[in-house]
Amino acid sequence: MDNGLSSFISRLPLKPKPLLNKREISPGVFVLRFDRDHSFLPGQVVGITTEQSIPPRLYSICSGKEDAFLEILFNIKTEGILTPILAQLQEGDLVSVSKPFGSFLGDDQPAWWIAAGTGVAPYRSMLRSGLGQNKKLIHGGRTADSFYFHDEMKAAFGAAYIRCCSQESSDDFYNGRLTNWLREQKNIPTDQNFYLCGSAEMVVEVRDILISKGVAIEKLMSEIYF
Ligand SMILES: Cc1cc2nc3c(=O)[nH]c(=O)nc-3n(C[C@H](O)[C@H](O)[C@H](O)COP(=O)(O)OP(=O)(O)OC[C@H]3O[C@@H](n4cnc5c(N)ncnc54)[C@H](O)[C@@H]3O)c2cc1C
Repeated sequence: MDNGLSSFISRLPLKPKPLLNKREISPGVFVLRFDRDHSFLPGQVVGITTEQSIPPRLYSICSGKEDAFLEILFNIKTEGILTPILAQLQEGDLVSVSKPFGSFLGDDQPAWWIAAGTGVAPYRSMLRSGLGQNKKLIHGGRTADSFYFHDEMKAAFGAAYIRCCSQESSDDFYNGRLTNWLREQKNIPTDQNFYLCGSAEMVVEVRDILISKGVAIEKLMSEIYF
């Protein structure tokens, strides 16, 4: 991570909040719920940590702007520092949470929302905040249980909800990587915006595919989870 950004993150003002609820929505993947006391724009993030000695990590808010609570989605990184601790939290434990911030913002224009893994979190916030019209959601995951919030997404997007599963086969999914699905598309709309959210590797690969298919770089919005 670049030094300016890590210094910004380590200086984020934090407020202790009791954990209201923890749900394991897939093996090793959790939704944490807190009280909220700030408004935010769908697509924004919060900094979170449990101890002063651990610099906050950033998490996209996955709840809607009108929801009474604030939720985040994370997966355990087994070699990571914070996520194994977050996974052990109990209701009532205090967690330090920053104010929402960030510029990966949804709007009501037609767009493709493209995510890998937990990168679907900001789109759930955008959907729950009333920005789901005229959107196509393309979600990539390794296994069939990687499509977090799939009931909500299926209900909202119907045929415009594409799941790309790289390691398991089913008639419900495109069987293969999300990048392969994108490469196969003959009619990528060049007049719409494309939101990209996930690892740096995924974002760069998707960006290159879209540009090679005629999408202008100005149409691409990226949120990289590092
Ligand atoms: C804008 C933004 C939004 C984000 N939103 C989300 C979100 O909504 N949900 C989500 O799950 N994540 C999100 N992330 C990622 C998140 O901030 C954390 O990076 C992630 O949860 C891992 O935290 P950790 O403390 O467990 O791992 P860390 O301790 O930070 O380690 C991160 C990774 O580096 C590896 N690693 C650590 N130390 C070493 C080492 N010495 N050598 C080699 N590898 C090492 C670990 O295996 C791990 O995979 C976001 C990131 C950004 C920048």
